Amino acid sequence: MIWSIVLNRTLSFFILALAALAADDTAERARRIQSEVLGIDSHIDTMQRVLIEHVDIGKRLTDGQADLVRLREGGMHAPFFALWVPMYYKGSEAVRRTLDMRDTFQGVLDRYPDQIELATSAADVERIVHAHKIAAVLTLEGGHQISDDLAVLRMYHRMGIRSMTLTHFRNNDWCDSSTDKPQHNGLTEFGKDVVREMNRIGMIVDISHVSDKAFFDTLAVTSKPVIASHSSCRALSEFPRNMTDDMLRALARNGGVVGINFGGGFLNQKEADNDMRNINAIGGAEPNLTSKALDDYMAAMWIKNDWPHPRKSMASLDDVVAHIDHVVKVAGIDHVGIGSDFDGISDSPRGLEDESKMPALTEALLKRGYREGDIKKIMGENTLRVMREVVGK
Ligand SMILES: [Zn+2]
Repeated sequence: MIWSIVLNRTLSFFILALAALAADDTAERARRIQSEVLGIDSHIDTMQRVLIEHVDIGKRLTDGQADLVRLREGGMHAPFFALWVPMYYKGSEAVRRTLDMRDTFQGVLDRYPDQIELATSAADVERIVHAHKIAAVLTLEGGHQISDDLAVLRMYHRMGIRSMTLTHFRNNDWCDSSTDKPQHNGLTEFGKDVVREMNRIGMIVDISHVSDKAFFDTLAVTSKPVIASHSSCRALSEFPRNMTDDMLRALARNGGVVGINFGGGFLNQKEADNDMRNINAIGGAEPNLTSKALDDYMAAMWIKNDWPHPRKSMASLDDVVAHIDHVVKVAGIDHVGIGSDFDGISDSPRGLEDESKMPALTEALLKRGYREGDIKKIMGENTLRVMREVVGK
């Protein structure tokens, strides 16, 4: 009797110890995998912080969600830095603001040549990451920044910019937005010319933010894979910025990739309702200003919205895994990536608060049964494949 109790206790001690060892082992394996991945986050808004708040991203910041240190810690060595310009910058004002953003980025490159380098091809990304530096890919958000002029688009390409979302929270002159009333029935003839020109010069077409009709119009025209740099799944959170299952299947046929957005509304229905109200407020503003007065207005809006201090979300790391699972189920393992939207979301998921936490996502994916090769595809290889096909080697 006594012996059997002792034996039972000994057995349960060993079982608990083994379970603890297995958990440790998974965490350790996740850290090792994350140290080897070529991590690409296909959308972060950190450059706004550098321009408006003058933060020094070469050092670990105590607020916000990304800087060069935390990108390295999280294994996300090749972020797509969005040069976002709000849509209330019209025409040449939008071009001026884009140049300001590009100049701000140049300031970071010039200050930290030992930490970060501009990547303008897939081979660049690989070379720079292997040299233990951050490989920065530059993108535009969105199409109003070309001021309806393909020559401006071509010059952006010459400045090293390699992707562009076709629109943002509102329709522009040639593309409907997912968060506005349809105006062009998708993409206009000029909009189709923009897609063809991006294909020709080697810029990745980004269909995050476009209306469903504009998405299908784009896929009918493009000869190259596209990305949804920061979107998630509408089947799990009915948010117009997310993709339906039909869209995910079409993206798979196109060879494209969707980067899962970590914003609460993208992941969780309750947060989505809240976010829609914010989007309507942001998108509705139309200040009649130019030059410095307009920049001051934008800075005031940025500070008011307090992007550097996102609130805790109802969504968590598990929701991110669920969205990845859903894309894998509907579109396949080759068509999902990471597009956190860090420094541009008003809430961040519990367990994935900033770039440094990315090993926790890999650990969760391992526990969910994903193999190491699958995880490397999700973390960056899929997006790098699109970059190789569109931008060139
Ligand atoms: Zn966006």
